[in-house]
Amino acid sequence: ELKKRKILITGGAGFIGSHVVRRFVEKYPNYHIYNLDSLTYAGNLENLIDIEEKDNYTFLHGDISDEKYVSRIFNEYQFDGVIHLAAESHVDRSISNPLSFARTNILGTMILLNNFRNLWGDKWGGKRFYHISTDEVYGTLGKTGLFTEETSYEPNSPYSASKASSDHFVRAYGETYSLPYVITNCSNNYGANQFPEKLIPLFIHNIINKKPLPVYGDGNYTRDWLYVIDHAIAIDLVYHRGLDKQTYNIGGFNEWKNLDLVKLLCKLMDEKLGRQTNSSEKLINFVKDRPGHDLRYAIDASKIQKELGWSPSVTFEEGLSKTIDWYLNNEEWLKNVTSGAYQQYYKEQYT
Ligand code: NAD
Repeated sequence: ELKKRKILITGGAGFIGSHVVRRFVEKYPNYHIYNLDSLTYAGNLENLIDIEEKDNYTFLHGDISDEKYVSRIFNEYQFDGVIHLAAESHVDRSISNPLSFARTNILGTMILLNNFRNLWGDKWGGKRFYHISTDEVYGTLGKTGLFTEETSYEPNSPYSASKASSDHFVRAYGETYSLPYVITNCSNNYGANQFPEKLIPLFIHNIINKKPLPVYGDGNYTRDWLYVIDHAIAIDLVYHRGLDKQTYNIGGFNEWKNLDLVKLLCKLMDEKLGRQTNSSEKLINFVKDRPGHDLRYAIDASKIQKELGWSPSVTFEEGLSKTIDWYLNNEEWLKNVTSGAYQQYYKEQYT
């Protein structure tokens, strides 16, 4: 019998992590998947309700910055691989509360690296530490150009600075202690299970409820959007076939100005909700800009495309349509996560 591989996925109750955990649990019955998550406001076990009873899945409730707890579970379960997604992930929150980003994103990553190293020392055969990062570490682009794996790091927000720092520590553990690692830097994700503080679910939620749609500045900020399932597919591929000490950029070849994106969402939702054409667009409301706001991100994903044969499986309209349908069919989920603390956060952010 194949020895079960034990893989620790951190942040598996969050948006992207929940899709990664589900994919690994369902696709690899010979692996045992441990999901370590502290269940912050962004973590929600409802995201995994369909797989929580599976034999090859275990949830571990803990904080990656809790040294004692992390060392206990590494000793107890002897993970062969780590796929690290746990993070504080929202730029606006990093502006109001930067220290919590350093604690989780930098210190938490170091504690994981340290424990992985303590466990395997120099017996690294078949082991891997996979760090999930963002394109925001590269800073901002002007009107043209693309981020490649060679672009230098110029993080502008406390969020991106904390992610950049964690990327550097992963690399340093590779150089200093020969820890086998791989890093991917991905563009903006959208899809089911995303907390409605992020642009697409926020606007879907507000359009459903006929609430104003807060667009930062003049709406010309440009992002590259990727369907979350395509990110999970890429993560599976890189975990198994990516080369050690490599970085791969992941993106959707899909750039949108925020204002155009909001208009597209309004159009799709007017159709789905049977509302009059152009009625949701009237909800658009320009609000004061975010400080240090990066103008444009766009990814050159040709390395992962050429070397690992990955490319997005759905078009943007298909992905958006599935995403809107998911939020419309899961109003209960949306209601649960937008009650309580969300109301307070929203008030402070947009009024
Ligand atoms: P998310 O905020 O939805 O989920 C983060 C998860 O991590 C939550 O379940 C939360 O409970 C958990 N967590 C937070 N702090 C923790 C701690 N100290 N200990 C244990 N668990 C903790 O985030 P997401 O959007 O799914 O992002 C996942 C990862 O992907 C992050 O590392 C992020 O930087 C990266 N990323 C995100 C995007 C995007 O568009 N969302 C794009 C590129 C990269």
